[in-house]
Amino acid sequence: MFGGGIPFGHFPGSGRGGSMPAEDVDTTKLYETLGVDKSASKKDIRKAYMKLSKTHHPDKGGDEHKFKEISAAYEILSDDDKRAQYDKYGLEGVSGDDVGAAGGEDLFSMFFGGGRSRRSAGPRKGPSINHPLKVSLEDAYNGKTVKLAVTRKIIEGTPTECTACKGQRVIMEVRQIGPGMITQMQRHCDQCKGQGQQCTFKNERKVLEVHVDKGMLHEDKITFRGMADEVPNMEPGDINFIIQEKDHELFKRKGADLLVVKEISLNQALCGFTWKITHLDNRTLVIKSQPGEIIKPEMNTKEALPFVKVLPDEGMPSKGNPFVRGNLYVMFRVRFPEDNSLPENVIAQLRKLLPEPDVEEEYDPMEVEEVHLKEADLRSFGKGGAHRESMEAHDSDDDEGGARPVQCQQS
Ligand SMILES: [Zn+2]
Repeated sequence: MFGGGIPFGHFPGSGRGGSMPAEDVDTTKLYETLGVDKSASKKDIRKAYMKLSKTHHPDKGGDEHKFKEISAAYEILSDDDKRAQYDKYGLEGVSGDDVGAAGGEDLFSMFFGGGRSRRSAGPRKGPSINHPLKVSLEDAYNGKTVKLAVTRKIIEGTPTECTACKGQRVIMEVRQIGPGMITQMQRHCDQCKGQGQQCTFKNERKVLEVHVDKGMLHEDKITFRGMADEVPNMEPGDINFIIQEKDHELFKRKGADLLVVKEISLNQALCGFTWKITHLDNRTLVIKSQPGEIIKPEMNTKEALPFVKVLPDEGMPSKGNPFVRGNLYVMFRVRFPEDNSLPENVIAQLRKLLPEPDVEEEYDPMEVEEVHLKEADLRSFGKGGAHRESMEAHDSDDDEGGARPVQCQQS
């Protein structure tokens, strides 16, 4: 049965819970460091951390680097906001400033080592900033340039050594990490924010021209290299605009393909229809059925898929190759007459006109039982009978007590 579900997977807004992480971003390393699952609860994460921090504590002969990794991983994963950022954008999404346990050490090189880090070449890099950029489907179709003003901090004059940490970037601090457990930790210097140098900043207002290319997808990243705040001793991070595609009232999108849902009457399904729509580039398309073409309530397949037709090459421009376009799918819903019965004369005509009319069964009404159907709900299927009903009455909200209703397959 087909109950309004769209069998094409995920669409913008239709419950897009966890968005896909950007390509080539590692979002598992921290979990591996603590030896927990990506779905681990806060409690599990704390447990794992407590255990590991005991084993790897430098005072007990553990490896200091490993201990720092564990502390940094815990500091990020135990904070809901940081964890969410990390799950989405990897270490890049977590600002280095916020991670005390890293002791000012670059998070990337900490976890990926100097050799493998994408930042290994050249100086260390300051934190990058991600900004969501809401984009309509029309803009993703046609492309658009948006001018956005950002205010960034730039260094004024020459930086000097930090007086609080004497250029060491870190301050040693005694910390309680659990009941009766005290540990000495390196905490990044607040005064210089772990940079080891101090300087005065001034604000600079910059207007960025953000090019939304034709066919760009949700969560795509537009990067302005080195445009984040300046940091002494470091290459400034990037400003990233992350495309957030807005829902469209007519079109749903998946990749380069588009889908529209069209409800038509039974009359239109059998006798033809004309449908005028405005495409995303403002062209008017008139979608017309061919003479004699029948639109069915569902495909003639075992899975009872919705009835779909397609307009080739009327989808979105492909990302990176806008001249190749996806397809436009039209999914039909056939609306039967609202009333429960049709007028007598209409029935008589239809019976004559439509193929395969009912054939009169031959029987003797005295020898058979003539019965009529009542309204029903498939969810009640399996709940009939005396036994079932009494159980239902006793524990109606206990799932295990009664038979589960048969679910309509929703997609
Ligand atoms: Zn300092």
